[in-house]
Amino acid sequence: RGDIDVDLSTLQAAVEELDTATTVTSFTDLPLSAETKAGLDASHYATLTDIQQKAIPLALKGKDILGAAKTGSGKTLAFLVPVLENLYRTQCIGPDAGLGAMVIAPTRELAIQIFDVLRQIGRKGHLFAAGLVIGGKGLREEQDALVRMNIVVCTPGRILQHLSQTAAFNVDGLRMLVLDEADRILDMGFQRDVDAIVDYLPRERQTMLFSATQTKRVADLARLSLREPEYISVHESA
Ligand code: ADP
Ligand code: MG
Repeated sequence: RGDIDVDLSTLQAAVEELDTATTVTSFTDLPLSAETKAGLDASHYATLTDIQQKAIPLALKGKDILGAAKTGSGKTLAFLVPVLENLYRTQCIGPDAGLGAMVIAPTRELAIQIFDVLRQIGRKGHLFAAGLVIGGKGLREEQDALVRMNIVVCTPGRILQHLSQTAAFNVDGLRMLVLDEADRILDMGFQRDVDAIVDYLPRERQTMLFSATQTKRVADLARLSLREPEYISVHESA
């Protein structure tokens, strides 16, 4: 435990010293745990995409993010790397750590895709419990799994059902909330569900919203749940 603490404080110092005005293009040049670096490498992720270059350093430093970049630009890693790292650095992963992060996606298919990427990058030595809560399984089966998770990837309706019905589901330790495809979450009519979910969560947390478009309604959603967010937008060059 002592050695781990020393490593974590070294890593924490490196994150604090990271200069977000300088562009980092390679994952190996970021202050990340050896486990995450190994997971990225094994998954053949070497160079950061534009949105990742802009979002990951700020997100590692705990900033709230409102990110817009077109489909296929690599938004998944832009939030999953900080989710995994920020929980790891603060020792919020492991069997007794409880739920540290919630990632909300508009559809079950998208949630499954996100979960698969998390499994990929987390497979090299990280000891975290992650799960999907998207319905399709019995509520009871999901309930039993939920109480052990450090990271949950979910759809809005189903997680709200657990927040209102699962007594043992404690979100008091939640540090990070991600809304992926926030524009589609709104298009699909989940605004009220998201508002209700946010009401259950601790106010002191990091929030990241990602979307393919920067619409006014996403900004409205942001006003409810973000604190002095960094606005990051990546446009195609003409
Ligand atoms: P978005 O959510 O913006 O639509 P994804 O996160 O789904 O984009 O990524 C799109 C594709 O790009 C995926 O196949 C993913 O594996 C790949 N990808 C993402 N980041 C990188 C990277 N840094 N290097 C190489 N491929 C990447
Ligand atoms: Mg995506």
